[in-house]
Amino acid sequence: MIIAMRSDATEEQIEFVCESIRNYGYKPHVIRGEERVVIGAIGHGDKKDHMQSLRSVEGVENVVPILQPYKVVGRELKQEKTVVRVGDLEIGGSRFVVMAGPCSVETREQLMETAEAVKAAGAQVLRGGAYKPRTSPYDFQGLEVEGLKLLAEARERTGLKIITEVVTTEDTELVAEYSDILQVGARNMQNFALLKRLGRVNKPVLLKRGMSSTIKELLLSAEYIATHGNDQVMLCERGIRTFETATRNTLDLAAVPLLNELSHLPVVVDPSHATGKRSLVRPAAKAAIAIGADGLIIEVHPRPHEAWSDGPQSVTPQMFAEIMDDVRRYAAMESRHVN
Ligand code: PEP
Ligand code: MN
Repeated sequence: MIIAMRSDATEEQIEFVCESIRNYGYKPHVIRGEERVVIGAIGHGDKKDHMQSLRSVEGVENVVPILQPYKVVGRELKQEKTVVRVGDLEIGGSRFVVMAGPCSVETREQLMETAEAVKAAGAQVLRGGAYKPRTSPYDFQGLEVEGLKLLAEARERTGLKIITEVVTTEDTELVAEYSDILQVGARNMQNFALLKRLGRVNKPVLLKRGMSSTIKELLLSAEYIATHGNDQVMLCERGIRTFETATRNTLDLAAVPLLNELSHLPVVVDPSHATGKRSLVRPAAKAAIAIGADGLIIEVHPRPHEAWSDGPQSVTPQMFAEIMDDVRRYAAMESRHVN
């Protein structure tokens, strides 16, 4: 249930409500909005109806049930959009954020060259996988720690923030040490042990939608991270598997405004994995901005034909610079700024 406090409620009254919720077996989730404090009672509780008695507590304005299955990440509990903070970079606010870089970290030369190029074109975050969850065990699995160190070096050199994927619970601490944002890949969206572990990490998480996952499943996975203590979560639409084989995946564009309706979390679109084809990245990126995304994550490689993974969908630095010109124009139409 949601307990909306009066705008003049005191700290003692708020604490009293939290204590009552704990006594009923729920976990209080306090949201401090601009005007008032709203408290969510999360969990199973003792199954009794406490709404009536809570309504008569001093400082309480109203009590209503939460109907959405995802309680903490849903719009019912929190109407204000969440702004994820990565140091001084805000995602989900007025800025439109672009993350770009290679699919995998391959060599120092490849990463630094890409980092300099995407920085010059206006990206704010450098992407690059150090741990790669590949469909085939014979494919390149990533440079692991060596890759993390190269990413940290690129951040040092360019000032870009870093996003990289975490694949297992055991590696979480190590990846969190090096990276500014932790990416959960499509293949791990329902790795609940990993999601719970990420709930205890003090770094933002980009949660990619599983290739065969529904929007409800995506939001429930985000709920795992949030209820375990980390509310700095971003959702990523990266295309889903359909009967169509002409593209690598099918970009579910309508998911973007729908996620914005259902949840307060920022939404990022990955036009690279969503299409699998470099010529489609630019138009898909433009569509994502127009339909309400808060950011993009794009694969860029200085020599895509030599890439160790995802070459066909990687754009060249030159193409990326052209995409960024469009991003600035389209973002401005949506009253967002890029730099
Ligand atoms: C990636 O970002 O390179 C990646 C593996 O993406 P996804 O998990 O969406 O397939
Ligand atoms: Mn990739």
